[in-house]
Amino acid sequence: MNVAREGGCACGAVRYRLASDPLFTNCCHCLNCQRQTGSAFVINILIESDRVELLAGDPRPLDVPRDDGSTQRIFRCPTCGVAVYSHYGYPKVSFVRGGTLDEPSSVAPDVHIYTRSKLPWITLPEAAPAFDVYYDSKTLWPAASLERLQAVRDSARSGA
Ligand SMILES: [Zn+2]
Ligand SMILES: [Zn+2]
Repeated sequence: MNVAREGGCACGAVRYRLASDPLFTNCCHCLNCQRQTGSAFVINILIESDRVELLAGDPRPLDVPRDDGSTQRIFRCPTCGVAVYSHYGYPKVSFVRGGTLDEPSSVAPDVHIYTRSKLPWITLPEAAPAFDVYYDSKTLWPAASLERLQAVRDSARSGA
């Protein structure tokens, strides 16, 4: 089932629409995400970047340092500064921040990652897999999502 979801920043200048269901939804408890959000974790909706349709505004990229010395490109509303999505070194897949959806409850984490730095007062649901660090998407993602990811990689190779 494909459900179109819409979201945006706080001031309304940036509006987006997700053209399909996510590839996968990660709930990340790493220290970088905690610092960037000022909160306990981030909900990252992984989806092909060309399925993040901008309805209004022009999110501005900012390269934000991470603890390992790398940077993460975070796209923010140029007016109110709310972060709407990130790229982790691979711009063809976007990590849309689940809390910016009009209906954040329309997604739920498929996996919890970096639970080694999960805040101790958070109890994870037993139904969702959880990993101290990361996981192998081949073992966890549904086949349809793996096919979509492969299609992205193929199109990148052919220069499309
Ligand atoms: Zn805004
Ligand atoms: Zn993280």
